Amino acid sequence: MKQIGSLMNLGVIQNYKKYLPVNKNTPIITMGEGQTPLIKSTNIINSINCSNLYFKFEGCNPTGSFKDRGMVFAIAKALETKSKIIACASTGNTSASAAAYGARFGLKTIVIVPNGKIASGKLAQAIAYGAKIISIDGNFDQGLSIIRELSDDNNVTIVNSINPFRIEGQKTAAFEIIDELGDSPDSLFIPVGNAGNITAYWKGFTEYLKYEKSSKLPILMGYQAEGAAPLVKGEPIEKPETIASAIRIGNPASWESAIAARNESGGLIDSVTDDEILSAYEMLASQEGIFCEPASAASLAGLIKTNLINPQSIKDKTIVCVVTGSGLKEPELAEKQFNSKPINIKPELETVKEAIMNL
Ligand SMILES: *Cc1c(COP(=O)(O)O)cnc(C)c1O
Repeated sequence: MKQIGSLMNLGVIQNYKKYLPVNKNTPIITMGEGQTPLIKSTNIINSINCSNLYFKFEGCNPTGSFKDRGMVFAIAKALETKSKIIACASTGNTSASAAAYGARFGLKTIVIVPNGKIASGKLAQAIAYGAKIISIDGNFDQGLSIIRELSDDNNVTIVNSINPFRIEGQKTAAFEIIDELGDSPDSLFIPVGNAGNITAYWKGFTEYLKYEKSSKLPILMGYQAEGAAPLVKGEPIEKPETIASAIRIGNPASWESAIAARNESGGLIDSVTDDEILSAYEMLASQEGIFCEPASAASLAGLIKTNLINPQSIKDKTIVCVVTGSGLKEPELAEKQFNSKPINIKPELETVKEAIMNL
């Protein structure tokens, strides 16, 4: 494909193939994932003790979450090995992403989701893209263990983040941050569920340091929801509970690599309450114009918590909060959570004027 000016996004495989395990048989496919905006904070920065705050808004990916970065590469590798079927367990976004890329690149897609525990927009996506959807009366962890057993069948490619190519694709988010800032930030705050993404960022940051694209490594600050915080508790949680469905996970697949990322970066994996998550979710939308899903706000909730308990640790620092997915995935939550509500009146100028005066 011809590049038109510099405005066209060629996707994460083309943009970073030098740093990915791409060979001559790997198809360079894309749906325009990656190159998501790194948005500088204009308002929240005023209440936080750091000097440069950015939000990496991954909700701008083609299916509305960062999962597309890893999915495009997992799909490219599935095509390379002539696989015909892809499968995953999902809290929602992985299934939306797999279904979209599967539809576009001619792979049959099977997704296992927890019945009643997936945001309406994510389910709508999987339906629209035409995936085979299996809804189980169980949670994500149970779905993933079924998927692990399915992977014994050679015809099925698992596209959960236990697929190493998912991690490879997702590490490009760290590359983009460094490419844009000119160096690594001092700290990266990130939501943690199955822990693939924190693993991927750490891989990206360490590789770019090795290639001398950056001069330092960031401190990684990972945040789980309090009712689903196995990495903080140090043991799996059998019945994880949180409003942030994308991180409602009790036994993360990338447990060890998440702990390694924490330890090697001198960082922390902590938890935030659902109230703290919802408060950060509201702040991002109403103060920065960034409408994300609740799980995505765990990073800012973690930064606010850090600002309260250890302000010195972020003073004068450059900080990036990863905002993992779009708020449009779960519109009914916004209707419940935010104060601003539509007022219903007659279609007459005088009545509208009166209503505006009373706002
Ligand atoms: C998948 C997901 C997460 C959690 O990422 P992990 O790699 O599972 O830790 C967080 N937020 C959103 C919106 C997600 O889709």
